[in-house]
Parts: sequence; C-alpha cells; structure tokens
Amino acid sequence: MTECIFCQLIAEPGRTKFLLEDDVGVAFNDINPQAPTHVLVVPKRHIASAKELGEHDAALFGHLMGLCQQVTSLTGIREAGYRYVLNTGDNGGQTVNHLHFHVLGGRQMKWPPG
Ligand code: AMP
Ligand code: ZN
Repeated sequence: MTECIFCQLIAEPGRTKFLLEDDVGVAFNDINPQAPTHVLVVPKRHIASAKELGEHDAALFGHLMGLCQQVTSLTGIREAGYRYVLNTGDNGGQTVNHLHFHVLGGRQMKWPPG
C-alpha cells in the first residue's frame, strides 16, 4: 500500500466524500479548513508537487484548473471571489507530497500570505 495519504483516499471508495470526481481528479473538503469553503483539488495520478510539472503536463494542469472552477460554482463562492493556492516544497509550506490545489473562499482573504 502506498504511503501517500491522498493516493490512499483516492484508492478507497467511500473513505472520503468527493464533491467532484472524473477520470483525472477529485475534489474533497480539507480536513482542517482555513476558510468557510476549503476544498482540495487533487489529480488521481501521483505527482509529488508542482516541481514535477512541465510543458507536457499542460493538459493535466488545465483540466485541474477546470475542476477548481467547477468547485467555485458548486460551493457558491464564484461571484464573491476566492483564492487558489498551490503550496510547493518546504518553503512553499507543502505538507502533503501529492499535488493539490487549495480552493478557499467564503471570507475576505489577506495579502501578503503568511
Ligand atoms: P499543503 O500544506 O499545501 O500540502 O496542504 C495539505 C492539506 O491537506 C492541509 O490543508 C491538510 O489539512 C489537508 N489534509 C491532510 N490530510 C487530509 C485528509 N485525510 N483529508 C482531507 N484533507 C487533508
Ligand atoms: Zn499520492
């Protein structure tokens, strides 16, 4: 069994309720939400981080962006605004080494980020 927590929850149907699922990716609520809406969009294929992405992943990246867009509609945050976050590597604050977008909304976001 893989040690990757996101690969595990993708591989075990019923373990996690998905807001969205297609052949490429899934979306599910973050277990430790940082905003009223906090959804993770995750590719089914294990990719450790955005560092691994290159030009050949343009279709995958675009597809994941489409899932993020669907999440903003499904959760009702699209009109008021939202934030996509892609933490990458240690300095980027990445804690789960499986590529994922955070979709955050439902409150005013601050800048600069911490
Ligand atoms: P990051 O720090 O960008 O790597 O984000 C990892 C995110 O995954 C954090 O916001 C965690 O709260 C979240 N997370 C970790 N384990 C789970 C899980 N089993 N289900 C849902 N979210 C999780
Ligand atoms: Zn994984």
